[in-house]
Amino acid sequence: CGLVTDDPILYRARVAPDRPALFEIATDRQLSYAELDARIACCAGLLSDVLGARRDGARVAMLARNSMDSIVLAFACQRVGAVYVPLNWRLNAAELRPILADCAPALLVHDEEFAATVASLVSADPEMAVISTAGGPAGLAARIEASLAAAPVPADADGPCVLLYTSGTTGQPKGVVITRRNAFFAAINFSVVGEIGPGSVALCDLPFFHTIGLIAVARTTLMLGGTLVVSDRFTPARTLAALADRQRAVTHYFAVPQIALALRNDPAYSAAALAGLHALFVGGAPLTQALIESYLDDGVALVNGYGMSEAGTVLHVPIDRRAVQDNPGSVGLPAPLLDIRIVDEDGREVDEGEIGELWLRGPAVTPGYWNKPQETAAAFTDGWYRTGDLGRREANGFYRIVDRLKDMYISGGENVYPAEVEAALASHPDILDAAVVGIPDIRWGECGLAYVVLRPGAVATGDEIAGHCAARLAAFKRPARILFVEAIPRTASGKVQKHVLRQFHFDETPQRQAL
Ligand code: ATP
Ligand code: MG
Repeated sequence: CGLVTDDPILYRARVAPDRPALFEIATDRQLSYAELDARIACCAGLLSDVLGARRDGARVAMLARNSMDSIVLAFACQRVGAVYVPLNWRLNAAELRPILADCAPALLVHDEEFAATVASLVSADPEMAVISTAGGPAGLAARIEASLAAAPVPADADGPCVLLYTSGTTGQPKGVVITRRNAFFAAINFSVVGEIGPGSVALCDLPFFHTIGLIAVARTTLMLGGTLVVSDRFTPARTLAALADRQRAVTHYFAVPQIALALRNDPAYSAAALAGLHALFVGGAPLTQALIESYLDDGVALVNGYGMSEAGTVLHVPIDRRAVQDNPGSVGLPAPLLDIRIVDEDGREVDEGEIGELWLRGPAVTPGYWNKPQETAAAFTDGWYRTGDLGRREANGFYRIVDRLKDMYISGGENVYPAEVEAALASHPDILDAAVVGIPDIRWGECGLAYVVLRPGAVATGDEIAGHCAARLAAFKRPARILFVEAIPRTASGKVQKHVLRQFHFDETPQRQAL
């Protein structure tokens, strides 16, 4: 019935039962593929008991840091036809409530850290079963061990196996339906661009509630027979120690730009710790050239990748020093199983080098959003997923991401891409962080407002920064106003929440005018 190839762990347990599948840093526990498979089978038995006849298509939510349990539960859901919903634990109860109302899980599994949050969530839905990963007879581990192994149930390849909520960078998080087919092909795509195979050892401290951690790292590594090293948190010291551990021999590490920067700036950082890496994968948000070069200078192959919850990995710089050096600022080449078009406002393909919106099609692309037919209809045209991102394709076939369509603004009739202005600001030595949004302007229609965070002790003035921009940017691109702030609001994955900055401007402006 095709289930063996659809369930990567089942397959691996048959062909290489003794190979190490998973290592958990927090507990020092390791499981071979046969052991992981047996645990998933018993967890599937537990799910069958708890969910009963409701299990097909039932949502099983998890509010927990990365652990062995997360992986076991995710694949056990797939075996019984349930849908795994990893929740963003950086959200508070008020933010989680609408997400739970949206996906209506039959079961919520949580770890002890989030017990209080869960207690307040459960009161709203007494129907939902709850299991804690804490020790003791009622805990997940004891219940898995007491359960009989369940055989996989036949399931539709186009049925959902994961519901992944987007980062909420542009508004409320949306539940992206990931079918078994999507997950399989997203993993194939990443295995090709990330060069992952049976010898790979991938360290994951990015949360499993985003596509990079759950699909690109965890699923791909396990599907290809590598070893997944699970870490429940990122701290520079812990990550550097894990990377430097020659016995563990990590070959693949994944970061968002904020994490790659924190690692590089840590006093304990040394290039030697990263010497065993095949590549350092960075993606999820724009990356500064200075950061790429600082790693390149250390002999670390930092490769930029572009993707999203809706499609997994889309574009990736090849793991090749020349390709990285010769294509600064590029997000590389398309993953093999994706059709990419760059189109204008009328949906017509633009010429090479022209900026347009990226549209995608392929077996890794989601069929749509959970419970959101209107948003789904708005995001798809003739089977193409409209990413909402602007990019261009260069003569050598490499792509660049210019900005989000929603963030572009028009000043004096000219398109301004805030990412370009932010890159110019970031090149100032006194600037730690910067974000630019378009705001209404009587003269130009819209103009740029720059939020700037200075490095500790730095003294650059607004005039000095304006001069820095003037030397690098055409007049219409220069921010009309510069506002110094202590921090820039970011999502859990380190993305700037521009809607918060725009709202902040509108909330603040009347007060300032009144002063
Ligand atoms: P929401 O859809 O809720 O607004 P989100 O789009 O940030 O949130 P994700 O699916 O986690 O949610 O992120 C995908 C987006 O992140 C892409 O559409 C793109 O805008 C941005 N992105 C991803 N990788 C890169 C990259 N390498 N460079 C620039 N931007 C990137
Ligand atoms: Mg998005």
